[in-house]
Amino acid sequence: MSDGRIIKVSGPLIVAEGMDDCKMFDVVRVSKSNLIGEIIELRGDKASIQVYEETSGLGPGEIVVSTNEPLSVELGPGLLEGMYDGIQRPLDKLLEASGSRIARGVSMPALNHEKKWDFVPTMAKGDKVVAGDVIGTVAENNVFTHKILVPVGVEGEIKSIKSGEYTVDDIICTVKTAKGDRKLTMMQKWPVRRSRPYKTKMSPTKPLISGQRVIDTFFPVAKGGAACIPGPFGSGKTVVQHQLAKWADADVIVYVGCGERGNEMTDVLNEFPELIDPKTGESLMKRVVLIANTSDMPVAAREASIYTGITIAEYFRDQGHNVAIMADSSSRWAEALREMSGRLEEMPGEEGYPAYLSSRLAEYYERAGIVTALGSDQRVGSITAISAVSPPGGDLSEPVSQATLRIVKVFWGLSASLAYKRHFPAIDWLASYSLYGDKLEDWYRDNVDEEWAFYRTSALRILQEEASLDEIVRLVGVDALSPVDRMTMETAKSIREDYLHQDAFHEVDTYASLTKQFKMLKLILKCHDLGLKAVHEDIEIDDILELPARESVSRCKYIEESNLDKFDTILVEMNKQIDSLIAEGVM
Ligand code: ADP
Ligand code: MG
Repeated sequence: MSDGRIIKVSGPLIVAEGMDDCKMFDVVRVSKSNLIGEIIELRGDKASIQVYEETSGLGPGEIVVSTNEPLSVELGPGLLEGMYDGIQRPLDKLLEASGSRIARGVSMPALNHEKKWDFVPTMAKGDKVVAGDVIGTVAENNVFTHKILVPVGVEGEIKSIKSGEYTVDDIICTVKTAKGDRKLTMMQKWPVRRSRPYKTKMSPTKPLISGQRVIDTFFPVAKGGAACIPGPFGSGKTVVQHQLAKWADADVIVYVGCGERGNEMTDVLNEFPELIDPKTGESLMKRVVLIANTSDMPVAAREASIYTGITIAEYFRDQGHNVAIMADSSSRWAEALREMSGRLEEMPGEEGYPAYLSSRLAEYYERAGIVTALGSDQRVGSITAISAVSPPGGDLSEPVSQATLRIVKVFWGLSASLAYKRHFPAIDWLASYSLYGDKLEDWYRDNVDEEWAFYRTSALRILQEEASLDEIVRLVGVDALSPVDRMTMETAKSIREDYLHQDAFHEVDTYASLTKQFKMLKLILKCHDLGLKAVHEDIEIDDILELPARESVSRCKYIEESNLDKFDTILVEMNKQIDSLIAEGVM
């Protein structure tokens, strides 16, 4: 084992010499305080090391010892409900051990190694196993059952397997392999910078349903897809990610709070345990893993945090689950990368970001996807990656936004002016897109309604027409519009205000099932047709707008899921009222 010596300290980066036996990405311990670091560049016997903790007080001559292991995470029962820092140290234990400011050099296992879990074997002595096979299960809590998998690289015949209460360090299974016996525990370790293997990657065909109308209807993300949420400060990036964490039909949520202000993450840490999971009635945390690296925590650990997060996501994917990983914000991650690159004195690219910014981002998003997992059964699991992007001043021409947009297929562009008008979610319907939209149409047709695509396209068309009519109104005033165009304007307003606007904090409005979404949109567009019918009978627009049924339409978002028949009633009323308007007009 090599003992190096520090020759230079530059913020979170140190350079040490005498490191000839080390490998790239090995974890090292720095100085007598045992600070945790990782080798990110090797030249001869000199290693550049990013240190995951405060480096103040460090100086040349202090010792650096390699652990000869890459930065890895612990994967096993106990992950859920976990709150970790960027290198998977449990935050509650860290704070317990060191008070409100995290002490340095504290290494702490991520999982609880004392707790006993009830291991229920699903295989028996003599069974043949390959990597990825499920050898047993553990009820991690009352909503989630963990599958214990044969680790990558192990193949053979089960010699013995246990049943009952064990810790994650106890041996629960012995496999006879070609290279001798392998003793398995319920825990695996995996290096975070390497993606976990799978059998095949598939093309996504199902939407990740979020209950957020503008997303599900107009700009859906597929299970296994990737989406970005760029927007200026205060435009609602965090609220969108929280809504997705809470409502998306994912089995497991990995939430990476990455470099945002400390109090925002404290909000998350305090808020998430109190959130009730609408699916189970239990705390949402029972299927969440939180990783927090706020702006006041060391910058290098922020760089690592998204890899820690996605490796945990892959582990749950491998068990056959749909996982969603949120990163808030990927721009802060990129800033951490830029800071380290600057200190390495690498040639800066655009705006000081390293030239490898886009390849790093691509590697991250590449780890999302829907796959058939390793193992003999055809387990399918997915990771959907959703990241906030915070471009300075909201200007999307900057490198992080540009690189992200080249990779992800869904763009939920948040608009400062919509947020200013308090139209939430402030997703700009003219600028946003989903390249999954058309692909997922079959799914919506088969699972929601045959006419889904028809109404979706009609609504988008009306919104686009509104934009061009707006131009005309600005130039020559609303009176210049034909009655048909005025009706279009009114319907567009209804789509915006009654449909797209959705209050995250309203008990009923916060979530809309796809059935409700469809009924709402159909109602609004049927009212449009009825309005046009009246217009063609020379009825005044203002008379149509005053119909009592229109008032019901404007409140239809508050109709409860148990009461969806109400939509049909409103439509019947609207029909009647339009017919009597026409009858009166004819008389
Ligand atoms: P960002 O993360 O982009 O800085 P936030 O997500 O913190 O912005 O949102 C700022 C504020 O906007 C929130 O505190 C909330 O008041 C409001 N807001 C955002 N989205 C919604 C929503 N869907 N429903 C209601 N209010 C929202
Ligand atoms: Mg935010």
